[in-house]
Amino acid sequence: MPAIKPSAVPLWGLLRGMSVTLRNFFRRAVTKQYPEEPMKLPERFRGRLFLDPNICTGCTMCEQACPNGALVMVPAEEITNTAHPQNEYHLFPQVDIAMCTYCGWCENACPTSAIRHTQQFELACYDRLHFIYSPEALSMSEEALLAEPEKIPPRLPGEGAPLRPEPETVVTGGESAE
Ligand code: SF4
Ligand code: SF4
Repeated sequence: MPAIKPSAVPLWGLLRGMSVTLRNFFRRAVTKQYPEEPMKLPERFRGRLFLDPNICTGCTMCEQACPNGALVMVPAEEITNTAHPQNEYHLFPQVDIAMCTYCGWCENACPTSAIRHTQQFELACYDRLHFIYSPEALSMSEEALLAEPEKIPPRLPGEGAPLRPEPETVVTGGESAE
């Protein structure tokens, strides 16, 4: 007698579907009720950068390591109220977190661990300029920043420290100045 294929049994597909539902009904749910239920991130997750101005020497290694110019060195303003003798020129990193690829190269290059990734990833805002984190903003926690939103620039072009350094004029050899 030829074997009966399961697919030939009436309602076989329905029964198979129901068995999957029944199996998963008793499994532990994996869906997170974010944002009410906080996410447990991996230990090495790279979120927005944090700067400790007390140990930043202004050496510019982070700027040189940044592959896309998201991090630039700027003269700090308010954090210079505190003496930072280790940073002779009062130059600290500023990061455009919308351009940042979270590659971690600046963190790796920093000889004093002054700049490092946090686990903060909730960085949405309404204004593109708010993505530019000044040294003051970088050195604050996200909670403190939300309490004092004026600490996040907008720093409009021409106001305070430059958003991007002007590219240097390249003078090629042999060209006449006239
Ligand atoms: S994480 Fe990468 S892209 Fe972002 S500022 Fe650092 S070096 Fe630049
Ligand atoms: S954050 Fe680190 S690498 Fe960048 S300027 Fe400060 S000490 Fe140097």
